[in-house]
Amino acid sequence: MQKGQIGVTSENIFPIIKKFLYSEQEIFLRELISNATDATQKVKTLSRKGEVKGDLGNLTIRVKVDKEAKTITISDSGIGMTEEEIEKYINQIAFTGANDFLDKYKDSIDAIIGHFGLGFYSSFMVAKEVDIVTKSYKEDAKAVKWTCDGSPNYSIEETEKETRGTDIILHIADDSTEYLEDSKINELLTKYCKFLPVEIGFGKEKEWKDEKQVETDKDVIINDTNPLWKQKPADIKDEDYLAFYKKLYPASFEDPLFHIHLNVDYPFNLTGILYFPRLRSNLEFQKNKIQLFSNQVFVTDSVENIVSDFLTLLHGVIDSPDIPLNVSRSYLQGDANVRKIASHITKKVADKLSELFKEDREGFEKKWDDLRMFIQYGMLSDEKFYDKTKDFYLLKNTDGKYFTVEEYKKIVEENQTDKDKNLVFLYSTNLTEQYKFVEDAKTKGYDILLMDGQLDSHFIGKAESKLENTKFARVDSDVVENLIRKEGKKGTDLSSDAQSELTPIYESQASDNVGSFWVQYEALSESEMPVIITQSEQMRRMKEMGKLGGPEVNLYKNLPDNYSLVVNTNNVITKQIIEDKDKAVGEKIKEISDKEKTLNSDLEAINNLTKDKKEEEITQEEKDKKSEIEGKISELKSEKTTVLKDYGKDNKLVKQVIDLALLANNLLKGKDLAEFVKRSVQFIER
Ligand code: ADP
Repeated sequence: MQKGQIGVTSENIFPIIKKFLYSEQEIFLRELISNATDATQKVKTLSRKGEVKGDLGNLTIRVKVDKEAKTITISDSGIGMTEEEIEKYINQIAFTGANDFLDKYKDSIDAIIGHFGLGFYSSFMVAKEVDIVTKSYKEDAKAVKWTCDGSPNYSIEETEKETRGTDIILHIADDSTEYLEDSKINELLTKYCKFLPVEIGFGKEKEWKDEKQVETDKDVIINDTNPLWKQKPADIKDEDYLAFYKKLYPASFEDPLFHIHLNVDYPFNLTGILYFPRLRSNLEFQKNKIQLFSNQVFVTDSVENIVSDFLTLLHGVIDSPDIPLNVSRSYLQGDANVRKIASHITKKVADKLSELFKEDREGFEKKWDDLRMFIQYGMLSDEKFYDKTKDFYLLKNTDGKYFTVEEYKKIVEENQTDKDKNLVFLYSTNLTEQYKFVEDAKTKGYDILLMDGQLDSHFIGKAESKLENTKFARVDSDVVENLIRKEGKKGTDLSSDAQSELTPIYESQASDNVGSFWVQYEALSESEMPVIITQSEQMRRMKEMGKLGGPEVNLYKNLPDNYSLVVNTNNVITKQIIEDKDKAVGEKIKEISDKEKTLNSDLEAINNLTKDKKEEEITQEEKDKKSEIEGKISELKSEKTTVLKDYGKDNKLVKQVIDLALLANNLLKGKDLAEFVKRSVQFIER
């Protein structure tokens, strides 16, 4: 027997490895099986070249757990290793490799998110001692046994082994005995090795014999050595893709919409299948994740730094040996290959969508509602994707018809261009809540889009910034006459004095529960409601952005809802309200207004007197007089407001018309609604 010391400086490197990679312990099995797979593939290649003679025999890699002996053994029939090769690949390269690794990543645990590169060593995360028993394929090779207990000391000796290949025997450490459970090993094999290209056997198949279940010598194979993504698309049927989807995500009930089969050799190697799921709300986000493989070995299901963010909404597998795995996540994004791969996938996805649109418009429309959110997310987050999809992005109107933006422009151009030559796209976010507004707009001959998706408000902002001379306006953002202004504002014949007398009355009745109101006057048609409540497009959007978050928009989150209360001065009830007011407080108001007028002319007189004087020439008396008059005027003003508010607060008619408007907007709730109902009954009884 020969003994030696491994070339490392650290006294005992393995506890460090163990500690560092604690959360990734389980990758040891993947690493060892990957090595066994490589060795098996190599022997196949050598055999093809004639360098290994004869039948290769059964090449199944076997995993065995011996609970009593506390060992896990991974056996392959690959190329094996000679003593020199162990010296070269295990003692030197491997161990210095680990040293480098630790040096490099000492300070960033983050960087060590369990990737390849640690290889064989990861076995020391769970084993207190590891034996390698191996026999090379080379003629006359002697079998050797290497043993290491995790210290830098190893021993190597000749041993007996009949067959070609390698057994790795892990003597499991006392704190890792969970790995001696069959169920645990099964779980790891299913997670990491499900699609490896060489058969992996774990356990033996059982059969009934003499009313007993007995083990046969047939291996239970845990993997699919020829997964669908490695096969030729031409040979695969739709149902195969569907069956494979179910294999990937056994817990999913919903079938995907369609798929893309990726297959690139140059300038990088990439295979995979991506499935488009039905996405209607963000609840479904991230449920089934894309699985990343490297030569059929599972690596991770977090591909965030590898593909564009929106593509992580897709399901399926990506397999590429060209994605570096033993580097930190932030480095990945800067990697040239990864960037190429990401943009290739983005392009393929856009191409697939474009192809569907062109070849089967009807089918595309049918899928649209399930696809829209995905496409919007892509367009919002990726300029290239925006440019590729903008020509087949579909707008859906309230009649359930679909249009491309260009088609839609042509349809609404004539009727929905405002006086500033802007095209106005009207939309509703909720056909039930905005019913009245939608109907009003339709009677004007307008077309209304349905924008009820979670990303629609973001999408509208994006589209406005991209489309020239096009604005979006929600149907309830103004009264229908003003939604698309074809001429200057009409306004009203109600004098500004009369308006300022009415405003406090309406204000005194506006409920606190629904935010603050801004009272406006419009001469709408006689048949239009006496009061209409609208919320300006800009104000509502700011609020919505605030709710959706992001630090820069949080500011707006706590803004009150600001509504416009539009009083229709042509409506008979409004006229009635004005008349009632004149009857009740007209005289009182006139009295105050007369006093105000007198004071105003006094003020004007003083102003005329002093207007040509320099500041220092104005006498103290003049200054005092002026501020006295100003004080009195403001007193009168507030007196007037008080009179009007006192009158207004008991005005059931005003309350009723405001409540009706709130009701039309679905804003009347709780106590206010109950009171409205009660009041309405009283009105009918009268
Ligand atoms: P890596 O696999 O990244 O090269 P490892 O530390 O896992 O690093 O293995 C080092 C080397 O040891 C391998 O490249 C291979 O040459 C050899 N080796 C490991 N396991 C086996 C095996 N089961 N059969 C044959 N050779 C092996």
